[in-house]
Amino acid sequence: MANIKIDGSATLVVLVCESCDGAWRACAWAVGEAHDRAVAHEKRTHPGEHDAYQAREQWRRRERRAQARQLVTRR
Ligand SMILES: [Zn+2]
Repeated sequence: MANIKIDGSATLVVLVCESCDGAWRACAWAVGEAHDRAVAHEKRTHPGEHDAYQAREQWRRRERRAQARQLVTRR
């Protein structure tokens, strides 16, 4: 017996590169992983551009701030 449970509430992050006219697509299980994939694609296919890199840095800063806030409210 194969006991397969399908959970439709699980969300996948979908990436589409508009600079490649949507030809490059990827998906990730989490936003952090999606940013890593975006940066890897940018390095490989769009050398010299840093938009995905900057977006990841901005996201990381926001995450760190959100985490710091959570630590404060938990105390
Ligand atoms: Zn691209």
